[in-house]
Amino acid sequence: ESTSFAVRVAPLGPHGQVLVLAEDQTERRRVEAVRRDFVANVSHELKTPVGALHLLAETVQDAADDPEAVKRFAGRMQHEAARLTHLVQDLITLSRIQGGEPIPNPGPVSVDEAVHEAIDRCNTRAAAKDITLVAGGVEGLRIFGDEDLLVTALRNLIDNAIAYSPEHTRVVVSARQVGDVVEISVSDQGIGIPESAQKRIFERFFRVDAARSRATGGTGLGLAIVKHVAVAHGGEVTVWSKEGSGSTFTLRLPAHAAVPEPRPSSPMEA
Ligand code: ADP
Repeated sequence: ESTSFAVRVAPLGPHGQVLVLAEDQTERRRVEAVRRDFVANVSHELKTPVGALHLLAETVQDAADDPEAVKRFAGRMQHEAARLTHLVQDLITLSRIQGGEPIPNPGPVSVDEAVHEAIDRCNTRAAAKDITLVAGGVEGLRIFGDEDLLVTALRNLIDNAIAYSPEHTRVVVSARQVGDVVEISVSDQGIGIPESAQKRIFERFFRVDAARSRATGGTGLGLAIVKHVAVAHGGEVTVWSKEGSGSTFTLRLPAHAAVPEPRPSSPMEA
């Protein structure tokens, strides 16, 4: 990559002195290129389901006198529309958190509750592949952050663990506190991630195997969302993986200071 400078010359003194400002444009150009790539990727990802919907609508019209076919094509239209919704939802989530703005509702969040809520939301998909979701060691831990964002990040990690694992396997969500950091790990016994790809999987729209990702309904944004949730909390997400034997993603988030909080006991609670 070449380095480029923007040079500005401003007249300064009566004797023809000039002020020369050279500004390094390399970073600005890189950011521009990333933005352009992103817009191109989004357009491409949107075009695929929209194109499919167009085709299906035409086909339904042609098959008007065959109720069975109409039903089948309508089902596929629903599937494409769901994919579109998923993509738009992920884009909205990403745009909310990647701007470097503070997290929306910071406060103490029960890791136990967040993990169980995420597991509940993923249960149907897990059951369809006879994958067992297990939580361990999550009791009593609290992070300081945003509950919805934590659940979103965990759902994305668990969803991936299910999507990239064979049937009849286990996905384990475990947590522990190390100093003032809570570590939450999601481990699977799935296909794993080649070492060369491990540092790229958190990029928007990066997929190891695009066909496989689409087949499982992936948007290519899940891990980018997880990364931005971690960063927005002042934390991080890392991956350990071995091809053919599984992956472990670990979120490290700030623990809620161990200040004993009075339990609210308003009549509203009952
Ligand atoms: P996608 O919607 O494609 O799953 P993600 O951003 O969630 O997008 O993940 C990016 C890519 O990382 C996936 O396409 C897949 O190749 C790989 N990946 C993510 N999680 C796992 C996992 N648990 N096991 C194996 N590969 C994974």
